[in-house]
Amino acid sequence: MAGLKDYVNSSVADNREQIEYHVEQILKLIGEDTNREGLLETPARVTRMYEEIFAGYEVDPKDVLGVTFDENHEELVIVKDIVFYSQCEHHMAPFFGKIHIGYVPSGQIVGLSKLARLVEAVTRRLQVQERITSQIADILDEALKPNGVMVVVEGEHLCMCARGIKKPGSMTVTSATRGTFRENAASRAEFLSLLKG
Ligand SMILES: [Zn+2]
Repeated sequence: MAGLKDYVNSSVADNREQIEYHVEQILKLIGEDTNREGLLETPARVTRMYEEIFAGYEVDPKDVLGVTFDENHEELVIVKDIVFYSQCEHHMAPFFGKIHIGYVPSGQIVGLSKLARLVEAVTRRLQVQERITSQIADILDEALKPNGVMVVVEGEHLCMCARGIKKPGSMTVTSATRGTFRENAASRAEFLSLLKG
């Protein structure tokens, strides 16, 4: 899983003063007057915002699922419209949207709120949408050993990312499939039709 830390290293909370200092330097370097009233608190505000939007570095996404439950249910489980907010690692610009997760259990299920926590752990850091999609699929695949996992991410990017100029409002859709969803077009179609419903 490229890009994932295996351990907790550093975080905004550990480095508040330094981040504030460097934000102030950037303001000066772009030609701003950092004594202007509107900017006086900006370095501190940016740092507090970073604490929130980069909170993912405080946790290992592989740990957030925690306990899984034995359950005989072996039919498709879908949690859709999980809202996410992330930062593109190429421009440090926001991208955000919705994540839909489906899996077919094979004896193990996970609490539904844990899926939302997994989304936060994976997205609240510098990311690319493609990696968010595959990391969520891989972590669920590893933790639950399900018959299949499918993840669909719909994101709007506030930057012009690597694939040329995107128009405002255009949506990037990525998907990842594991197990039965990869092998079986009918499984993918069932998932996608339930997303629309
Ligand atoms: Zn970008």
